[in-house]
Amino acid sequence: MTVLYQSTRDDNNKVTASQAILQGLAADGGLFTPVAMPEVHLDFDQLKEASYQEVAKIVLSAFLDDFTSEELEDCITKAYDDAFDTKTIAPVVKLTHHYNLELFHGSTIAFKDMALSILPHLLTTSAKKQVVNHKIVILTATSGDTGKAAMAGFADVPGTEIIVFYPKDGVSKIQELQMTTQEGQNTHVVAIDGNFDDAQTDVKRMFNDTDLRDRLLAQGMQLSSANSMNIGRLVPQIVYYVYAYAQLLKTGDIDKGQAINVTVPTGNFGNILAAYYAREIGVPIAKLICASNENKVLTDFFQTGTYNKKRTFKVTSSPSMDILVSSNLERLIFHLVGNDATKTKALMTALPSQGEYKLDQANQDILDLFEAGFASEEDTEREIKRVYEEDHYIEDPHTAVASSVYRAYRDRTNDATPTVIASTASPYKFPRVVVKAVTGEDAGGDFVAVAKLHQLSEVSVPLAVRDLEAQPVRHQTVVATKDMQKAVEDYLGV
Ligand SMILES: *Cc1c(COP(=O)(O)O)cnc(C)c1O
Repeated sequence: MTVLYQSTRDDNNKVTASQAILQGLAADGGLFTPVAMPEVHLDFDQLKEASYQEVAKIVLSAFLDDFTSEELEDCITKAYDDAFDTKTIAPVVKLTHHYNLELFHGSTIAFKDMALSILPHLLTTSAKKQVVNHKIVILTATSGDTGKAAMAGFADVPGTEIIVFYPKDGVSKIQELQMTTQEGQNTHVVAIDGNFDDAQTDVKRMFNDTDLRDRLLAQGMQLSSANSMNIGRLVPQIVYYVYAYAQLLKTGDIDKGQAINVTVPTGNFGNILAAYYAREIGVPIAKLICASNENKVLTDFFQTGTYNKKRTFKVTSSPSMDILVSSNLERLIFHLVGNDATKTKALMTALPSQGEYKLDQANQDILDLFEAGFASEEDTEREIKRVYEEDHYIEDPHTAVASSVYRAYRDRTNDATPTVIASTASPYKFPRVVVKAVTGEDAGGDFVAVAKLHQLSEVSVPLAVRDLEAQPVRHQTVVATKDMQKAVEDYLGV
């Protein structure tokens, strides 16, 4: 049976996996979402001996079932190679109070590499399968990490062009340098004078702009997305939750069948949604703990049932979570209202017009799986210091948000279930913040902070950062938010 993906906003818009990956977003504004979960047999006695690539094969074959076995194997081999600095790809680290699932061992040292190293291969394979010869133009809004990881994946991939928009004052210095020094004939980086939500909203709008679509088609081009709105990003993220469970079993930290909790530092709700899907296919997960920073729109949503974006956007030390419109929540809403596209559409269209929506009726069993909390800037800083004192381990600010929210949850509930935290970035991406948190002093500069962080943590400086200081800046374009489309048209000559 073929796994079908349907738009969250239209029951009649159903496609196969490769079609969904190629389109990125549904033309009706919805997101392609699996209508029913595939049947996967997760035999953890075997899985605990399996490599990351082998686990990936099992999960991807189930969800992307219009790909052949050879096609998937080819994509997996190309993606999870020595671009990762550890053979295990996603190691689980045991700390005093929780396990950190380190998802930052790829080339851009954030968890976005887990999916974006394979997405270009899935996309070009999808284009071949659908006999599409157009140039694929990737339009992406980034809150700091997606942009670099997507460019690393797509740079000089034949038949593709990639344009990245980031908020000028909304990313860390290292994140910005990683993007502006990007090589590749087909990469374009644009800073905008707005925030991430502004960038994401306008990118979504361009996807639904039929006039732009027609003009691109006339020139042999079509848009696709590298944001987690693309199912080709979400599915590879399910893999590491299966893998993490298998690793804990292997080390004897849990017994077969024993449930774990998962805590995820959340922005666009992609990573935690992947954890939910992992649970749906059989990973024993008890609670999904959704952690936010001071942009705590999701905490409020889970506590009140109302999603309200009418609030001040805050720039925090965990910029990749500075988001007020969490795109992937739309997929959970779709499931919460019983896979009802009409209801989902009504709620989602209320958001831009009224700034909020209220979930009246929802599947309580699904809602009960989720816990939510937020960490203030002070909480986050304190948590970085605490974990360092407990374990001589330095968490990046995003991971520390999750760690802080989990600590509060555990203190409140006494829930002793072993808990895995999705550790989404290397602290080397945010050296000034973490050094300040540990020592109480500002290092004065990012690369001074890098050296200090090395001293404190005794973790070697990743290649992604070692190289950075000497790289020439190649991208310096800054535009007003309203001129984003013009920038796209200029780059593409339409
Ligand atoms: C993108 C990102 C997040 C948020 O992940 P979502 O899937 O958008 O919820 C958290 N931490 C880091 C470091 C990220 O890059």
